[in-house]
Amino acid sequence: MRHFQRRRILVTGGAGFLGSHLCERLINEGHEVLCLDNFQTGTRENVAQLLNHPCFEFMRHDVTFPLHVEVDEIYNLACPASPVHYQNDPIQTTKTSVLGAMNMLGLAKRTRSRVLQASTSEVYGDPQMHPQPESYHGHVNPNGIRACYDEGKRCAESLFFDYHRQHQVSIKVARIFNTYGPRMHPNDGRVVSNFIVQALRGEPITIYGKGDQTRSFCYVDDLVDGLVRLMNSPEDVTGPINLGNEGEFTILELAQQVLELTGSRSKLVFKPLPKDDPRQRRPDLTTAREKLGWEPCVKLHEGLLKTILYFDQQLGAQKRPASL
Ligand code: NAD
Ligand code: UDP
Ligand code: UDP
Repeated sequence: MRHFQRRRILVTGGAGFLGSHLCERLINEGHEVLCLDNFQTGTRENVAQLLNHPCFEFMRHDVTFPLHVEVDEIYNLACPASPVHYQNDPIQTTKTSVLGAMNMLGLAKRTRSRVLQASTSEVYGDPQMHPQPESYHGHVNPNGIRACYDEGKRCAESLFFDYHRQHQVSIKVARIFNTYGPRMHPNDGRVVSNFIVQALRGEPITIYGKGDQTRSFCYVDDLVDGLVRLMNSPEDVTGPINLGNEGEFTILELAQQVLELTGSRSKLVFKPLPKDDPRQRRPDLTTAREKLGWEPCVKLHEGLLKTILYFDQQLGAQKRPASL
């Protein structure tokens, strides 16, 4: 681990779910943060508590366009992460991953800054190896409806390693598995936010397919800690490194937990399974343990409770008359 030194840190996608938690963590550590976002899926409210902080600066910008700023470190998180959002404008999604990575790598090359890429477990596609170690090359449909995200992120990884080999750019690549927590958007479309919002509103819980597909859910604080550890790790630790939680649940089990924790009487409804939906997913965390000494510690029910509390406040606030 490097000794503390105040750094100028750029966080792209900083007004999104993960980005806003990361900005908060970096500000609390004493760094200067330049938060960049085009508000495609992020919101001003996510960083509202930071706007007046003297070390925080917000910049509205699209990462697909070049950016000339002076920084010491870059966390590249800009990209919609929910299938509903990334499939809404798939060409823009690919541009964001590929051109965004290229611009951030060009910026890192010029400023000699270290750059971390928020890659994804989606690079494994619908995996035929379980759990997934970093050495697994994946099983991705290159032209299906998820390809804009999966292949965009795969191409971004390829660019990161080529800038490292060809231009000696200092890189870090994190493969993030499903992460949840406060500040997910209520209309985000991802399973945890959908189920909690549906349960709190007493609306039917939408299970896609039979609900026997699995995911492993990581709480946001654990994930952000993994990202920061990876950024601060020795130069030769480039990744890719899986970051996630090994607890694996079926979507039906997740629905049951949300119903129990909210005390909701919502019914389950079964909807068609989206095309190319991965059957199973669980990270092999051996590398993260060995190289980062990192271990997620928030259990699913604990993290769900915190997330439920957040959405309960959000939805309650929406119901209040505008005059209050
Ligand atoms: P999010 O949608 O909440 O945040 C993404 C942010 O990027 C938003 O604020 C959005 O407005 C911004 N953005 C999108 N396109 C942009 C562009 N062209 N220029 C500038 N800003 C842009 O999603 P998130 O869950 O916070 O994900 C953050 C990153 O982590 C993404 O790169 C995502 O692929 C990756 N990731 C997240 C998860 C997860 O489970 N949350 C899993 C794997 C990977
Ligand atoms: N770039 C940027 N900010 C910088 C330096 C570069 O946005 O401070 C962009 C640049 O416009 C280019 C990309 O990053 O589109 C890759 O830069 P690189 O120097 O590798 O390539 P080149 O400019 O030689 O094509
Ligand atoms: N899912 C579901 N109901 C929903 C939203 C999602 O059953 O309302 C399922 C989805 O089909 C997938 C899993 O939950 O199998 C996780 O979906 P999410 O969009 O959160 O993430 P990803 O598919 O990218 O892992």
